[in-house]
Amino acid sequence: MRRFTNDYNPDGKEKRSEARQAAGNRCLRCGHPYECGSHGKGEWSHCDNGCTHAGELRITKANGEQSLINASHMVKFMLSPSYRAGRYIIRIEAHWRILTVHHMDGDKSNDAWWNTLALCQRCHLEIQGKLDPETPFFLPHSEWIKPYIAGFYAKKYEGRNITRQEAEERMTELLAYELKCP
Ligand SMILES: [Zn+2]
Ligand SMILES: [Zn+2]
Repeated sequence: MRRFTNDYNPDGKEKRSEARQAAGNRCLRCGHPYECGSHGKGEWSHCDNGCTHAGELRITKANGEQSLINASHMVKFMLSPSYRAGRYIIRIEAHWRILTVHHMDGDKSNDAWWNTLALCQRCHLEIQGKLDPETPFFLPHSEWIKPYIAGFYAKKYEGRNITRQEAEERMTELLAYELKCP
């Protein structure tokens, strides 16, 4: 049995950058965008129309006024012309959503495509809390994570590293390894 390690691969930085690019430089789960090198310490980063999250936001108005809010509306809605009309919002930034890479099976040296999920810090924490690779899943998966789970199962049950294309093609069959009806 392979011993898991917490060490990153020496070329892990490049692999993580590839994982981000494969995800279109956005969090796979909440859509928050990533611009390499533009986030300083990473506390605040710009939102755009691709964001599907709400949460802690910093709003900047045309007159420079800033306010911090905990939004229940999705950013996408707040960026819409109808919402912005009269509110003079020129910028929305989210709190702690820099794009990290989550290793699905917990093995940080395994940089297979299905094992490296580009997730912002917040989604990373939530997924890590919910997803225990050792425990069989019994709830339906969200659409965005299905190909990665399929790749993970191919490795876990068939001992093979498959391509993303194969994961897409055999999705139903692969997910059925654990997704059982009660
Ligand atoms: Zn996210
Ligand atoms: Zn955002």
